Amino acid sequence: MLTNSLVELDRQHLVHPVSSFRGHEARGVRVLRSAKGATVTDVEGRELIDGFAGLWCVNAGYGHESVVEAAAEQMRRLPYATGYFDLGSEAPIRLAAALAERAPGDMNHIYFTLGGSDAVDSTIRFVRYYWHAKGQPERDQFISVAQGYHGSTTMGAGLTALPGFHDGFGVPYAWQHKISSHYLYRNPLGDDPQMVIDASVAELRAKVAAIGEDKVAAFYVEPIQGSGGVLVPPKGWIKAMRDVCKELGILFVADEVITGFGRTGPIFASAEEGIVPDLMTCAKGLTSGYVPMGAVFMSDHVYDTIADGAGAKAVGHGFTYSAHPVSAAVALEVLALYEGGLFDNGIKAGARLMAGLESLRDHPLVGDVRGRGMLAAVELVTDKDKKTPLPPEVQPATRLFDRAWDQGLIVRSFAQGIFGYAPPLCCTDAEIDAIVERTRAVLDITLE
Ligand code: PMP
Repeated sequence: MLTNSLVELDRQHLVHPVSSFRGHEARGVRVLRSAKGATVTDVEGRELIDGFAGLWCVNAGYGHESVVEAAAEQMRRLPYATGYFDLGSEAPIRLAAALAERAPGDMNHIYFTLGGSDAVDSTIRFVRYYWHAKGQPERDQFISVAQGYHGSTTMGAGLTALPGFHDGFGVPYAWQHKISSHYLYRNPLGDDPQMVIDASVAELRAKVAAIGEDKVAAFYVEPIQGSGGVLVPPKGWIKAMRDVCKELGILFVADEVITGFGRTGPIFASAEEGIVPDLMTCAKGLTSGYVPMGAVFMSDHVYDTIADGAGAKAVGHGFTYSAHPVSAAVALEVLALYEGGLFDNGIKAGARLMAGLESLRDHPLVGDVRGRGMLAAVELVTDKDKKTPLPPEVQPATRLFDRAWDQGLIVRSFAQGIFGYAPPLCCTDAEIDAIVERTRAVLDITLE
């Protein structure tokens, strides 16, 4: 009864993410009630392994009492403090210092947002301020990578290069450009990593030359493209792109909204790639989904240039809920949990997950298995040699999602026929094995 009335109320009043406007109305929402560790329970008492950590965000896992306590304690003592009027509060200050200490290179300046999209939007402004302060306001063109995702706010959606986020609405804007993705599995150039790196470098150079070398402001990239289908660049690709940006004097922005906080192993994937971005964005794992929060990291030279030049072209930028004390208190506690063992467990579990998913390669429907650490994808095909996508009647993301749900597993199902995995870092061996076994069961059912 409870379920029925909730489903009906949801249908009538709750607006879901736009892509599923009529979808949730037709299928009926599945209502979750509680969660612990990597297991979520729905209102009917059914337990499922959350192989996607909510929306690749609950990296620490559900139900940590110490996180709840940290939030409650902060709410009791000081639930809110603005950063305007040169005010502040303890938790965001300590968090900024802790993150700066762990960030790559000299990314010592942290601006807190409410999530990933507004973090990306904030970088667009910061990049523009930077070039104004440098006396080069004509650098107002931005480049990102096809199949990338950089958020749902309008400017972030413009950098996003996934169909459906902006088609027909004049976005991306004329100042937002794209280069091809490094997607190896279906790359028209073939799957030789070095060839793909060389081609991307050449394309970035050509794009900059076409726009005008003194007009390009910044290049945006995810260390691993998440929403595009977990597309892992060849080793050295990120570094090569970073080097080109440095050589051409373009700011390099790493969008670590998904890859940050242990998703691929280390706290930030940029460090793993041996690069120091000029700016970096984070969200999701920062607070592990317990409360909303994102962050922009700026290296010394970016921050100092903006700060010193602010008088000349000062434009306000700040949100009511920037540096929210409760979010910061949660993030500090989540960081303590990560460093108290969850990062280590994530590395172990990630190796097991990748090995487990690799073992699915023998399945007739599995065309590709890719990922790093606790971020992975299995791409389904009907013909392995021709890499033929699943037929439309089998492929709809909702159908694959539903089949996994029926097996007691939540995984993302991308429209192209790709399963995406991003389990909480706290997963036990048994839970990782169950994720793999349940995936195999879904594949077997889909084959029938
Ligand atoms: N950047 C990337 C790489 C993301 O994956 C996402 C969210 N999936 C965002 C930005 C936007 O973050 P949010 O949904 O918190 O606004």
